[in-house]
Amino acid sequence: MTDYDGTLVPIRERPELALPGSDLLGAMRGLAGKKGVGLAVVSGRDADSLIKIVPVPGIYLAGCHGAEICCPGGVRLSAVDDKTIAPLLDLVAGRAMNCISGRNGFLVERKKAAVALHYRLAGRAEARKVLADFLAAVRLLAAEHNLQLVHGKKVIEVRPGVVNKGEAVRRLISLHPGHYPLYFGDDITDEDAFRAVQDRGLGILVGRRRVTAASGRLGRPRDVIRFLQIVSAQFRECVS
Ligand SMILES: [Mg+2]
Repeated sequence: MTDYDGTLVPIRERPELALPGSDLLGAMRGLAGKKGVGLAVVSGRDADSLIKIVPVPGIYLAGCHGAEICCPGGVRLSAVDDKTIAPLLDLVAGRAMNCISGRNGFLVERKKAAVALHYRLAGRAEARKVLADFLAAVRLLAAEHNLQLVHGKKVIEVRPGVVNKGEAVRRLISLHPGHYPLYFGDDITDEDAFRAVQDRGLGILVGRRRVTAASGRLGRPRDVIRFLQIVSAQFRECVS
């Protein structure tokens, strides 16, 4: 199981520029569908956009931090009730749009089960002001409706309280009992996933050293790709 942005591909200024190279797709296709292997991407991105970005048959794609999991056979598992959550998130998105109105460098993304306010291209002072306004505008609403506010890398996200990567990972593990779970991730939001695997598998932090629940570390996305290639090759040898 692996995060996408910052883990399989370097973080880019705009998410649409963070595309997988042929080496990554080749490594994933090499592993996907092998008997005894389950491969999953667990991302903050929407499941539908993951399907387009990672066109690898036979893998799980957990979008919006696991709010929605697309299984290899096409079945979709949902962790939230869309009818209840959609009007709330529309309200949050509207308030976010008001906060960024007339300012450059911000982007409001209305995902299927979350609203993300990106500020990667904004100046520091302006980002601080917009974030303070946004938090003031949504804090009460979030408390009343059990929405969580989660800070990631140059993004703040509002999503249902029941949704996090740890829950997504537990669900994926339950679909493959007996498998040894590995999870790769780079961001604070990946810590829930590291905690979900730490007593039965291995969490691997991608990036610089920090306080983490992961027990291993790789330096950058290309190291993860290399790892996948090596495991894929080893696996072939094991089964033949
Ligand atoms: Mg990431």
